[in-house]
Amino acid sequence: MKKLIDKLKKERHLEQSEWTDLIEHRTPELADYLFEQAREIRHAHYGHDIYIRGLIEFTNYCRNDCFYCGIQRSNTHICRYRLSEDTILDCCRSGYELGFRTFVLQGGEDAYYTDERMVHLIREIKSLFPDCALTLSIGEKSEDSYRKFYEAGADRYLLRHETFNHEHYSRLHPAELSAAERQNCLWNLKKIGYQVGTGFMVGSPWQTATNLAEDMLFIEKLQPHMVGIGPFIPHHDTIFAGETAGTLELTLFMLGLLRLMLPKVLLPATTALGTIHPHGRELGILAGANVVMPNLSPRDNRKQYALYDNKIATGEEAAEGKEKLVQQMEAIGYHVVTARGDSLMSADHLPK
Ligand code: SAM
Repeated sequence: MKKLIDKLKKERHLEQSEWTDLIEHRTPELADYLFEQAREIRHAHYGHDIYIRGLIEFTNYCRNDCFYCGIQRSNTHICRYRLSEDTILDCCRSGYELGFRTFVLQGGEDAYYTDERMVHLIREIKSLFPDCALTLSIGEKSEDSYRKFYEAGADRYLLRHETFNHEHYSRLHPAELSAAERQNCLWNLKKIGYQVGTGFMVGSPWQTATNLAEDMLFIEKLQPHMVGIGPFIPHHDTIFAGETAGTLELTLFMLGLLRLMLPKVLLPATTALGTIHPHGRELGILAGANVVMPNLSPRDNRKQYALYDNKIATGEEAAEGKEKLVQQMEAIGYHVVTARGDSLMSADHLPK
């Protein structure tokens, strides 16, 4: 299996059967070897820098009913909220003072936030913080809407493909959502010129090693600037309440493989990783990740953006949280930097 890791490092490509083999036959020793290689590549391109993104979860209203997600529209047990434009700008302001130079606006697919409102918000953020990058993560939209947001100043877009396999996708989503449409959105985003992020959940119900191999092949083809992966974690109000969560071990292994396949990719150690293990995010960094996305949302709303159970939502102020993060990263030899943190993948996507 070590040979496959060496091949991946050299050629940045594996056949589907090789991906499956590697994933199915992984061992702790193999993982240690993988992480060493992944760190070597990460250090060559990004040194020991950690890029931070200020995550603003601005609405938990959603028109979709993804079976795994706690904010799915049919969940009547959660308290819905949406932040006003002023509150969002306040979050950016306090984030800016703390050294954040990327803001990520993430939310459910909320009809209140029409294209016009989004365009206004994007323009406001970009005019108040011209040296910051703005990432949107607001789901599936028409190509026309994506273009409007881009022209208003949005730089990046995160849209996980969730799982490449169409049949698997249809077991995780209601009939009105399809893998084809999700993937089509990603190709549109790339065409428009966004720095694009995709990703998948690790250990979602029925996922096989072959599914993960298909995910890797899709990502290789898409060549995204970012890949966000995290373990699936059940939410008690969903039909997957009794399912087993994805593991830290497999998520870390997939992070290492992604770093080898796409050496310059931006790879977050996600909140979900931090949720399933107290040192999940540090371990993610040691497996090859180079981005962390602390929460800048108002404290009271963080728990309400409950995609899954036990999501880390400490009562800390953003400043306190950032200071803690800096210390956690220093403890493992990495440094949080104040920078936009663009991907090195293609220079033509650098600041507009
Ligand atoms: N609405 C936007 C979208 O569809 O991309 C952004 C919000 S969506 C809640 C963000 C991500 O949360 C999804 O892409 C999914 O991978 C992740 N997520 C949702 N439920 C989850 C769960 N139970 N466990 C782990 N991740 C989950």
